[in-house]
Amino acid sequence: MIDDCLICAKHAGRGELLAPVVWADESVVVTHRPADLTGYGPLGYLFVETRRHVECWDALTPDEVAIVAHTAWVAARALRAELPVENVFTAIVGRRIPHFHQHVFARFADTPPDVDWLESPVVAPQPAAAELADFASRLGRYFT
Ligand SMILES: [Zn+2]
Repeated sequence: MIDDCLICAKHAGRGELLAPVVWADESVVVTHRPADLTGYGPLGYLFVETRRHVECWDALTPDEVAIVAHTAWVAARALRAELPVENVFTAIVGRRIPHFHQHVFARFADTPPDVDWLESPVVAPQPAAAELADFASRLGRYFT
């Protein structure tokens, strides 16, 4: 754990990125993106993160790669099972926070075709915090 890392802080249950936990084990944590200060918090937007503070995809161990890949796959299947999605996208970017995290997010079936894939969450439903906590809990059942 790194003291000034926002994701390490989140895993310790504090900080500005605190989010509903969907599922976690000893090496990976899955959370649902909460609303930010502007109220932006799209339904069906998950993060798969390593517990170990490691900066990027190519720095993961082979065991971490296997559990992260499997977890992202389960996350996508859970979103597809629970939401009316056209597609589930995933991306590993890492330009803002130097702690490995993989985005997994839904594109809803009613998304206008002119909305770019990366902008899909912008037009997704924006649930209230209580609804988001319930949804995160429901998704957790897919990870057992
Ligand atoms: Zn960290």
